[in-house]
Amino acid sequence: MFGNKKFDGNKLKYGIYYAIAVAIIMFFLNDYVVNVKTQHIKYSDFMTYVSQNKVKEVQITRDKIVITPKTKEGEKSKILYTEKVDDPDLIKKLDAAHVQYGGAPQENNPIKNFFINWILPIIIFMFLGRILFGRLDKKMGSGVMSFGKNTAKIYAENETGVNFNDVAGQEEAKESLVEIVDFLHNPKKYTDIGAKLPKGALLVGPPGTGKTLLAKAVAGEAKVPFFSISGSAFVEMFVGMGASRVRDLFEQAQEKAPCIIFIDEIDAIGKSRDGNITGNDEREQTLNQLLAEMDGFDSSKGVVILAATNRPEVLDKALLRPGRFDRRVIADRPDLKGREEILKVHSKGVKMSESVDLNAIAKGTPGAVGADLANIINEAALRAVKSNRKEVMQEDLEEAVEVIIAGKEKKDRILSDKEKRSVAFHEVGHALVAALLKNTDPVHKITIVPRTMGALGYTMQLPAEEKYLITKEEMIDQICVMLGGRAAEEVEFNTMSTGASNDIERATQTARSMVTMYGMSERFDLMGLESIQNRYLDGRPVLNCSAETAAIIDEETLKIIKEAHKKVINLLKDNRTLLTEISERLLEKETLMGNEFMEMVKGDKSLENSSVEEQE
Ligand code: ADP
Ligand code: MG
Ligand code: ZN
Repeated sequence: MFGNKKFDGNKLKYGIYYAIAVAIIMFFLNDYVVNVKTQHIKYSDFMTYVSQNKVKEVQITRDKIVITPKTKEGEKSKILYTEKVDDPDLIKKLDAAHVQYGGAPQENNPIKNFFINWILPIIIFMFLGRILFGRLDKKMGSGVMSFGKNTAKIYAENETGVNFNDVAGQEEAKESLVEIVDFLHNPKKYTDIGAKLPKGALLVGPPGTGKTLLAKAVAGEAKVPFFSISGSAFVEMFVGMGASRVRDLFEQAQEKAPCIIFIDEIDAIGKSRDGNITGNDEREQTLNQLLAEMDGFDSSKGVVILAATNRPEVLDKALLRPGRFDRRVIADRPDLKGREEILKVHSKGVKMSESVDLNAIAKGTPGAVGADLANIINEAALRAVKSNRKEVMQEDLEEAVEVIIAGKEKKDRILSDKEKRSVAFHEVGHALVAALLKNTDPVHKITIVPRTMGALGYTMQLPAEEKYLITKEEMIDQICVMLGGRAAEEVEFNTMSTGASNDIERATQTARSMVTMYGMSERFDLMGLESIQNRYLDGRPVLNCSAETAAIIDEETLKIIKEAHKKVINLLKDNRTLLTEISERLLEKETLMGNEFMEMVKGDKSLENSSVEEQE
């Protein structure tokens, strides 16, 4: 909690609301409980029950008879009552029916009743309430500011507890944020000289690269409060709520300046307004309010607005104008060094064996983002616990990488021998093509243990080093490797299976992008025919050419694939014995590591006296 009167006042106010609500609930509950507990019956009915031997026990009070009927096992007992009438034979009848009876303890103490029915439950509710509120307080670091404005999703943290050391592999992003930290530390230094600092910075990058983390780290480094709200929260709100929420947010923040306002997933509200005719009034109002607030507030007080998005291209241009989010901080996928550092950051709190080599894991995870890597460390730790070890070993990490990439092992999936053979040849087909061609990444592992995410087997290749550019030759060889699986099935079994659908899809995509984006076809030369729409998400390409051209693109793509297919079939036919040998070995062992595999390839090649291109 902030030690601020206003917020303490709020807490008191909500405490009172809570107490009143509890009292009302108690009032009805009490009534209800009394009603279920006892049900009124006629005296004559009571007598019938007694004679039918349905009564277990009665209590005779001054003016009431409370009856406990006999119940079958497992049945809930229901208490009945009836008025006491002048019946001198009552005791005799009860004796005859073997009913237990007796008087009742004096129950008419009003103070005690009041205490049990009212005071005690209220105390219990208050106690529960405290636990509940306390929980929330802890969770938010300081409390939910707008609790009671019910749909509130503005979170405020007095201290985020995150600093730049917790964010690894984003050196450039950190560098550009340092200035903001300094400004928040000492706004006067800047305003004295007349410098205007950016009001806002936009964090851009694929999901999981640490944008939210960076924003928190800025607040943590500057030791200022952190107000955050998610853009997607606005989308579900009632009309008019979004705008008022934005007003709220800025009001609260300005009172707490210097501080940081963070708007996560800003694309949800900041989508470009032009070009959609239907329009979304609510979103537009929210966006307009945001723009107005950004223009209206005085940045010299030390309020900085950070926002994050993985779709910067859809943002309304108005948001990006000077004086608004005019700075862009890129949080891209980490490179090898970055990945190793992220792994280090996350393994700090985890007991790791001395022999663990994080660099090797970083090498094995090209394309992984911070969130994936954090996940890998955790999976590995879980696996270590499962195998009753006190520390995480390299094998735990390696398995965790595969779990993240391909899902958990699924040993109980039973394949027929025929299917297994087909999977083995398919995978060795991929691997062998990779080993025999020149411009390919070395094979790291081949396995035919099925995984939960659908793969019946897979071949893992790892680049020897981080690559930022891919040549045409490499792309063609990649396509060949993708087609190697199906080709091996054709060569060995002279038939085809459905197992190659994903390979085919990927090969087609690669071939197509060679034609449309990378200017690698003779037919089109350097003509750009497709552009990537959202670079940081799935990266779906969008065609920008005529229908006739699109048809030619298809032809060109097909040509590349056909050539590659032919090349691969010939390659595998020439190396048929090797294909069979390695496949048999894989069937036997289920998993082959890269070095075992390469030894078999090289051994065979030295016998034949022909050369295999070195892979290392
Ligand atoms: P984004 O907002 O970009 O989608 P997050 O900041 O929410 O990503 O990251 C999710 C989690 O992944 C973080 O809480 C952190 O544990 C981990 N993570 C992501 N990027 C990094 C990084 N660069 N360094 C350390 N941890 C990271
Ligand atoms: Mg995020
Ligand atoms: Zn395949």
